[in-house]
Amino acid sequence: MPELPEVEIVKQSLIKSVKFKKIHNVIINNRNLRFKIEKYLKKKIINKRINNVFRRSKYLIINFEKEEYLLIHFGMSGTLHQVKNKNKFQTNLSFYHTKNLTKDHNHIYFLFDNFKIIYNDPRRFGFIKYFNSNKKLNFFFRNYGPEPFENSFNFKYLKKYLTDKNKNIKNLLLDQKFISGIGNIYASEILFYSKINPLKKGKNISHHEINKIIKKTRFVLSKAIKKGGSSIKNFKSTKGKRGSYQEEFAAYDRESKNCKRKRCKEKIVKIYISKRSTFICKYCQKK
Ligand SMILES: [Zn+2]
Repeated sequence: MPELPEVEIVKQSLIKSVKFKKIHNVIINNRNLRFKIEKYLKKKIINKRINNVFRRSKYLIINFEKEEYLLIHFGMSGTLHQVKNKNKFQTNLSFYHTKNLTKDHNHIYFLFDNFKIIYNDPRRFGFIKYFNSNKKLNFFFRNYGPEPFENSFNFKYLKKYLTDKNKNIKNLLLDQKFISGIGNIYASEILFYSKINPLKKGKNISHHEINKIIKKTRFVLSKAIKKGGSSIKNFKSTKGKRGSYQEEFAAYDRESKNCKRKRCKEKIVKIYISKRSTFICKYCQKK
């Protein structure tokens, strides 16, 4: 599932092509996503100019002129693809760089002057939603915690939030109410760099560890963005470029490999927390 860095990369590459451009047509091929694509979506966004594209948590938000928004969540396997009109007979080949991804999973086409943007989602856990006011958009995000790079993600906030939490810190990092945008990959990375055991309860996290979490969260996420995100399975930017942060993993997916800390001789182990794989060095991340 794409996490904050991957959605940020899609945003950065999409914005270059669609900013200030008009959607000339919308073709809905298959409405069945996690929530059905609304029947009249086409009417609402056709001939609208895109003012901006931004990201909130793991969501991509297309902002039209005035207070109109199209929210895209990629679920487990959703991807956006930019296809030039000239290439109409070989769209999949030129952009997916794989012959296996079929057009069957193309749910919606947004047609621009000389290219189109396609949303493809084989597992259908993603969704697309339209909002016609800031108020409605903000209401959708009412239960989401601060963005990691915002000032509101600070010592005071973490201290207050964690003080009575029996939940472990790994699950807290995955909890979008606590912090927005982090998933299974980056939670392992952040806790490794912070030298915190993922099973440690929120209320037992020390002041020193709170500072570490803030610092390392920003470090890991900005490094991942710089590397174009992590391409585990099929993540690519809209231009079809793979990310390379997976080559930099310190803990995630490194089971039985040496801990990357210079003086540590332990190996990374995989444990399961709430049935989700978690990678730790038991020496560096002591309980
Ligand atoms: Zn270690």
